[in-house]
Amino acid sequence: METGLTVTRPATETVTVELADRSYDILVGHGALDQLGARLSAMLKRPRVFVLTDETVERLHRHRLDEALRPVGISTNWKALPPGEKTKSFSNLEGILDWLLENSADRSDILIALGGGVIGDITGLAASLMKRGMGFVQVPTTLLAQVDSSVGGKTAVNTPRGKNMIGAFYQPRLVIADTELLETLPARELRAGYAEIVKYGLINDADFFTWLETHGEEVLALEPDAIAQAVATSCRAKAAIVAEDERETGVRALLNLGHTFGHALEAANGYAPDLLHGEAVAIGMALAFRYGAAEGITPAEDANRVRAHLEATGLQSVIPGKQGGPYTAENLVSLMQQDKKATAGRVPLILARGIGKSYIHQDADLASVETFLQAELL
Ligand code: NAD
Ligand code: MG
Repeated sequence: METGLTVTRPATETVTVELADRSYDILVGHGALDQLGARLSAMLKRPRVFVLTDETVERLHRHRLDEALRPVGISTNWKALPPGEKTKSFSNLEGILDWLLENSADRSDILIALGGGVIGDITGLAASLMKRGMGFVQVPTTLLAQVDSSVGGKTAVNTPRGKNMIGAFYQPRLVIADTELLETLPARELRAGYAEIVKYGLINDADFFTWLETHGEEVLALEPDAIAQAVATSCRAKAAIVAEDERETGVRALLNLGHTFGHALEAANGYAPDLLHGEAVAIGMALAFRYGAAEGITPAEDANRVRAHLEATGLQSVIPGKQGGPYTAENLVSLMQQDKKATAGRVPLILARGIGKSYIHQDADLASVETFLQAELL
């Protein structure tokens, strides 16, 4: 008998980051922000929150957050900073803390980060410092922030001596990844975030990579089920790694797949906006797979699949510009040695024995990396 009832996918998927008494949920889905009010009501002593955002996101999405909180009677106190990486500065950190003090924030209050990774990183650091730690909630609005920066508790600001050099591990109490907020994101930012999604498949989930080969276009078109599934799978992958190694003393380093090459490319390019972080990571992952192939570690066929998928989604997979550009093999290798993750002159590289079979290659032979890069740049 037809009952008239249909089973529908839940609108929101919950991924839990298991960190004992600091465990938290990541709510993923189209319209997930609707659950913010109820979740906050259960956490707050007083019906008010502080919200930090950037001016672009404030213009586009402030009304969504206000709407989500109005029914539960939680008032919001907003501060918007200019968009862009330069915002992650000491002086802005001080400004945020002063604004919180001026408004008598205390440890039982919650500071919400509404924005991309820039806002998430500086807001988390401010929350960790405010009276030695106030509540912190992430509402990421870029794809990169939804699948990467909002999960795992790394917070930071930049200094003229380097990116993310000053920071703390400070976990949020809740993350809400509302995939509907991504609809206003420029296509290039979306693709850059997609590179980090591909990364999770390449690290340890070959089936997910295969799924992306088929469904990547739907993900990038923000088809609700596809984007939610991609974000939730990515968050589950990151949550599992963070739960195992919160402070990156071991397995968390796998998340740097493509990043040692990628950071060197970004640095060599002077962090200019013509190479976004995710774009550099895409090239870096392709390089890691091809270097592995050159060293007899990675099947060439897998390196080709990585390259083909990145290119199919509009990402680059080779070093741009070739000769005459800002990139030389010597310069890139020297930048790799300066990487924050390098210890005692040794550079760990994340390599792969195949798609979904990444591992930490502790002692990369930089001479062979340089030879490889020379050939890439011909
Ligand atoms: P971002 O925060 O600068 O956002 C990119 C741009 O998109 C900005 O101009 C922003 O105003 C705009 N934007 C944000 N949401 C939007 C929306 N929904 N619609 C339209 N425009 C929108 O950059 P990002 O790529 O999100 O994050 C990069 C930062 O994240 C870097 O500072 C990086 O160091 C950091 N990061 C941190 C971690 C971590 O674990 N903490 C991990 C990866 C990256
Ligand atoms: Mg990254």
